[in-house]
Amino acid sequence: MTGPADGSEPLLSVRGVRKSFGDLQVLRDISFDVPAGTVTTVIGPSGSGKTTVLRTLNALDRADAGVIRVGDVTVDFAEPVDRAVLARLRAQSGMVFQAHNLFPHRTVLENVIEGPVIVQKRPEADAIAEAKELLAQVGLAEKADQYPYQLSGGQQQRVGIARALALRPQLMLFDEPTSALDPELVGDVLRVIKELAAQGWTMVIVTHEIRFAQQVADQVLFIEGGVVLESGPPAQVLGKPEQARTRQFLRRIL
Ligand code: ADP
Repeated sequence: MTGPADGSEPLLSVRGVRKSFGDLQVLRDISFDVPAGTVTTVIGPSGSGKTTVLRTLNALDRADAGVIRVGDVTVDFAEPVDRAVLARLRAQSGMVFQAHNLFPHRTVLENVIEGPVIVQKRPEADAIAEAKELLAQVGLAEKADQYPYQLSGGQQQRVGIARALALRPQLMLFDEPTSALDPELVGDVLRVIKELAAQGWTMVIVTHEIRFAQQVADQVLFIEGGVVLESGPPAQVLGKPEQARTRQFLRRIL
C-alpha cells in the first residue's frame, strides 16, 4: 500500500470545484488529491458541504465548475458535460450512504449481485461467487439468503458496503456510514472499513467519528464554508491544527 508522502500519482484529483443550489453557494473552491491506496477522512461542521463533495465526485450532483479526475476519467465542469461522461465518472466510485438503501424484497445475496448482473451484465454465476466472498469479508456469509428486515441496521450497512464493492470501483466513498446506527452497532461497520483500508482500497470517508478518522486516515480534510480550510496527516489536522476554526470545531465535538 502506498502512502500520501511517496509522490505517487493521485487516483483522485479535485481542482476548483464549485456547486450552488439556487442562491446557496455550497462548494466555493474545493481542491484536494487522494493517492491510490490511501484513506482520506472528511470532517467539518454540519452544512459545510461534506456530503455535496462526495455527491459531486460520484456525479450524483453535477459540479458547476472545476475539474474532477478519478483514474483515467477526467471531467472539466466548465465545459458542457454529456451524460455518458457523467456515467463513466460515476462508475469509477462506489458510494455507501448514511442509511442503507437495500431493496426490501430481495435477499442479501440478490441485493449484492444486482449491480454486477443488471448494470454490468456480468455472468450471474461469477457475480454470485464474488458476492459470497464479499459477504464473508463483511462478516455476513451466513446471511446471504435473508431479507434486509431480518438484519440489524449495522448488518444492513455492511450489506451496503458489499454491494458497493461488488461493482469493483476504483474508489470507495462513505457518507457518514455510522451516523444512523445505534452506538453498539457502530464498531462492526468501522472494523469492516478499517479492513478495507488495510487491503489497500482507496477511500474518502465523511465521518463524525473523530477517533476513527484519526486511526484510519492517511489524510484528513477539514471543510468549512465550502472550502478545504485545512488538510494533512491526522496528527497535524486533529493533533496540532493550524487554523483557529479547526481547533474550535474539534473542541466542540470532542
Ligand atoms: P454537510 O454534509 O457538511 O452537512 P451538505 O453537503 O449536506 O453538508 O449540505 C450543504 C448545504 O447544502 C446545506 O445547507 C444543505 O441544506 C444544502 N443542500 C444540499 N443538497 C441540496 C439540494 N439538493 N438542494 C438544496 N440545498 C441543498
